[in-house]
Amino acid sequence: KKIQIAIDGPAGAGKSTIAKIVAEELGFTYIDTGAMYRAVTYKAMKENIGLSDEKSLEKMLMNTSIVLKPSPNGQLVFLDGEDVSQQIRSNEVTANVSEVAAHPIIREILVAKQQELAANGGIVMDGRDIGTHVLKDAELKIFMSASVEERAKRRFIDNEKRGIPSSIESLKEEIAKRDKLDSEREASPLIQAEDAIYLDTTHLNIEEAANEILKLANE
Ligand code: C5P
Repeated sequence: KKIQIAIDGPAGAGKSTIAKIVAEELGFTYIDTGAMYRAVTYKAMKENIGLSDEKSLEKMLMNTSIVLKPSPNGQLVFLDGEDVSQQIRSNEVTANVSEVAAHPIIREILVAKQQELAANGGIVMDGRDIGTHVLKDAELKIFMSASVEERAKRRFIDNEKRGIPSSIESLKEEIAKRDKLDSEREASPLIQAEDAIYLDTTHLNIEEAANEILKLANE
């Protein structure tokens, strides 16, 4: 059955890695919504638009195309026709994305896009507000977390692979700061949906976590 699977949780919990595997196994499409907020942030920074200036950000976004394309190496992100999949993962974008994502109008526009993409089901979507706002009727909702220590370690390994310089200590700080901003913002904060299943991945490897979700999806 072509259901919708919503996966939410704090930064570095393993959402995207695991969501990608689950989607592959089920023959579903994987959608990383964080990439959309990152693309908007990247463009705003490039165009020197104040990140607290909601009106200007809205104007910019009205004239922006963001296209997500599934690829064997994960989802590719095209911003106004240009592949920015690498650029949106930089430390600078990561440090600023939560500020941009807190603006209600930015969320409104991106959420509408996300709902459109998921309308036909057969989707695994990850983010912060998928179970609570974007796909309220999703058949399966997962809230994935892990200890801050473990999440920082995973980000560190991930960054090494991508060639992004970082340290565990600075990552712990960055993750804690972003979690705080994402959880305390007014517009659809990061919170577990009432009907979501909590999955602590601190002591699970990627395969074990993916299998947990696949088991639930096949119930
Ligand atoms: O998932 P990722 O870490 O790439 O998300 C980057 C940021 O985008 C998050 O820290 C959050 O501020 C924002 N975001 C959001 N809602 C989503 C997905 C991401 O606010 N559904």
